[in-house]
Amino acid sequence: MLRDTAFLLVVAILLAPPEHAMAAGEAPMISIAIHGGAGVITRGSMTRDEEEAYRKDLGRALDAGYDVLESGGSSLDAVTAAVRILEDSPLFNAGRGAVFSHEGINELDASIMDGRTLEAGAVAGVTHIRNPIDLARLVMERSQHVLLAGEGAEEFALEQGMELVPQNYFFTERRWQQLEKARTGDRYSAAEIGYYGTVGAVALDRQGNLAAATSTGGMTNKRWGRIGDSPIIGAGTYADNDSCAISATGSGEFFIRTVAAHEISALMKYRGLALGEAAREVVQGRLKRIGGDGGVIAVDRAGNVALEFNTEGMFRGARDSKGRREIGIY
Ligand code: ASP
Repeated sequence: MLRDTAFLLVVAILLAPPEHAMAAGEAPMISIAIHGGAGVITRGSMTRDEEEAYRKDLGRALDAGYDVLESGGSSLDAVTAAVRILEDSPLFNAGRGAVFSHEGINELDASIMDGRTLEAGAVAGVTHIRNPIDLARLVMERSQHVLLAGEGAEEFALEQGMELVPQNYFFTERRWQQLEKARTGDRYSAAEIGYYGTVGAVALDRQGNLAAATSTGGMTNKRWGRIGDSPIIGAGTYADNDSCAISATGSGEFFIRTVAAHEISALMKYRGLALGEAAREVVQGRLKRIGGDGGVIAVDRAGNVALEFNTEGMFRGARDSKGRREIGIY
C-alpha cells in the first residue's frame, strides 16, 4: 500500500508540468514599448495641460500598437501603427511636429527593422513625406536597398504611389520659436521641452517576432545635411529575434559612434547579458562616458521591456499581455 502510494506520487511528480509551463490555451506573451524623445524634461518645465497632452498622445500610440498585437498582427505592423500616430501629433519631433533646420526647413529621418529576417528600411533628409515611417517600410519591402536619402527617396515615394505634402504641413509655432532661440545661441535652454523628441516603438508579437521603428526631425538648427542616428540601422534602430528590438533617442552623433542599438543586442548575444543589463551598460556606461545624452526602449523575445535613459526625462510607455500599462515622462 505504502509502495503503491509512493509509486503514484512519483508518477504524479513526473507528469506535472513545470511551473513556468504555459497553461493550456494560454496565448504567448505580447509586448510593446514606445518613446517620444528624451532630454531636459522636468516637472517644473511643463504645465499640467502640457503634460496631459503628452500623456494622451503617448497612450493613443501605445494602445494602437498594442491593439495590432492583440488581434494577432505582426510586430512590424504594431510599431508602424504606433510611430505613425506620434508622427501625426504636433507634440513630438517627428512628422508633423518636426524641428527646423538652420535653413528653416524640416528634414525628416526614419527607419524600421524586422527582427525575424533582419530586413531593414530607412529614409534620411526627406522634406515632403507626411509619415516617414511608412516610406522606410516601403524601402524595406519594395526596394533592394536599406537607406534612401533626400530627393531620390521622394522620387521613390512617388513611384510607390505615396502623396507628398508641402513643407508648410510641418510648420508649428513652437518649433519655429525653438529655431529662433537656437540661432541666437541659446541651444540648450533648460526650459526647453521637446528639444529632442524623436519617436520610436519596439514590439514582440504572438509569433515571437521582434520589430523596431524610429522617426525624427533630427536636431533643431542642424546644418549641412546633417543626419543623426535614427535612420542608421545599428545606431538608432535595431531588431534581431536572437536578442532584442531597440529604438533610441538622444544626441545622435554619440549613438552613431557607439553603434548603441546594435551594441545592446551584441551584449545580449555574445556576453549573455539580460536585456535590462545590456541597455543599462550602453546608456549609463558607454554613451555617458563620451558625453552622449538620451535613452532607449527595448524588448526581448520573452517580452521583457527596458526603458533606460540618462537624461532628466524620456517620454515613454509600455504595455504587455500580463496587464502592464504605463506611461512615464520623468
Ligand atoms: N537622435 C535624434 C537625432 O540625433 C534626435 C532625438 O532623438 O531627438 O537626430
